[in-house]
Amino acid sequence: MKFGGTSVGGAENLRRVAEIIVAHRRRRPIVVVSAMNGITDLLLAAAHEAAEGREQELKAKLEAFRHRHVQAIAGAITDPKLRAHGLALTDRFTEDLTRILTGMSFLGEATPRALDAVVSFGERLLAEILAGVLTDRGVKAKALNAQRFIITDDHFGAATPLKELTYRKCRRAVLPLVRRGIIPVITGFLSSTREGIPTTLGRGGSDYSAALIGAAVAAREIWIYTDVDGIMTADPKVVAVGRSLSELSYREVAELAYFGAKVVHPKTVFPAIERGIPILIKNTFNPAFPGTRIVPRTRPSNPIVKAITSIGRLTLVTVEGAGMLGVPEITARVFDTLAREGINVLLISQASSQQSICFVVPQGDAERVRRALEQEFARERRQGDISSIEKQDGVAIVAAVGEGMRGTPGVAGRLFSALGREGINIIAIAQGSSERNISLVVSERDRASAVRAIHQEFIG
Ligand code: ADP
Ligand code: ASP
Ligand code: MG
Repeated sequence: MKFGGTSVGGAENLRRVAEIIVAHRRRRPIVVVSAMNGITDLLLAAAHEAAEGREQELKAKLEAFRHRHVQAIAGAITDPKLRAHGLALTDRFTEDLTRILTGMSFLGEATPRALDAVVSFGERLLAEILAGVLTDRGVKAKALNAQRFIITDDHFGAATPLKELTYRKCRRAVLPLVRRGIIPVITGFLSSTREGIPTTLGRGGSDYSAALIGAAVAAREIWIYTDVDGIMTADPKVVAVGRSLSELSYREVAELAYFGAKVVHPKTVFPAIERGIPILIKNTFNPAFPGTRIVPRTRPSNPIVKAITSIGRLTLVTVEGAGMLGVPEITARVFDTLAREGINVLLISQASSQQSICFVVPQGDAERVRRALEQEFARERRQGDISSIEKQDGVAIVAAVGEGMRGTPGVAGRLFSALGREGINIIAIAQGSSERNISLVVSERDRASAVRAIHQEFIG
């Protein structure tokens, strides 16, 4: 059972979460937690204040960190001894954190490696607190730091787990507790290298932690508790009339998450697929609601388009020129360059004339991409074979996803008409070879209205 940031974001919610866990005690749950909502952002901001030497702001953030946890403990733990223990831990964590941040202020830099160490305090403290809340209710529980057993490469900020090693270590750390009737409360998001240097699995990564742990111990099911009624036909913050989806396939969820449905981290489904473990997305604030069940295959009676997602703050890069004509080598070199720079390419589209190729990258990486390509193609640029390498900031990808789109003609047509009626300009399109999604590039300005127009057309 994984609980996200809002679910554990304060005393009242922690009590609610404890109630849910206790209600399922007989099933021998393993609990995974995020930091409280806003805490990871707060810690990242604190690290930047430290690196830039803004002492006052840094102090305020450290105090805010301490204060939110103190409030949660005061409101959710009643036993005086347990409460005192929680408060002492909060002080100790805040002191350790202060020491690291002070070190960063001396160095004047916030490296990805240091950031992973700093953000880890959110999950580590929260796991201790929730274990305290459960103990307070007379349930045996123990906080576990996943840095001990989720072992990754050293790609700080978004590390990749070494699967077999992680599974083995995870079983060894977790199962003895479960056998003794103790509920493990494990930090989501956190991991470490073989050498024990802290890493993280990427923003929103505690869903992925839960899936890894579930797969390691061959859990019967992986339950992800969040703050909405499961996976909806669109982000409820964008489309008010969206519905909760009762069932989705692993592949559908992988595509939805990849294209921005932040309700689950994109990598979550992979550990579950390998072991065929169903994932349930449930609402902490409406626990009786069944939520969404993610399974290997869905029944064929499905609607064509199941959900619409979007992802913003992107840049479209276009490489153009007559020299591209029939020269597949150029395309290969474009993507080699991107791979070398470690750039995450979200969408690729090539005009049939073969005179241009365009692709979408995170806005933050775009300038680096342009420079790398200018360098790679310096000769072609001089000779005029490539006439331009251009970037357009402020674009978004909107994607329609559903198994039912496979082999159903006319989906793209309906989609374009829907956007045309709203006067929304489509900058580029791509259809995944899986045919489970069609994705479009639109201006950030049109992002929400594009999602709504497509939702209206296919879902209502
Ligand atoms: P948690 O902290 O529980 O991991 P997140 O904030 O990471 O929660 O993810 C839940 C949020 O995802 C919801 O509040 C919702 O706004 C957003 N979201 C985006 N797309 C969808 C979708 N298709 N269905 C449900 N929620 C979505
Ligand atoms: N706390 C982390 C984040 O905010 C991980 C998570 O919420 O899943 O990204
Ligand atoms: Mg999340």
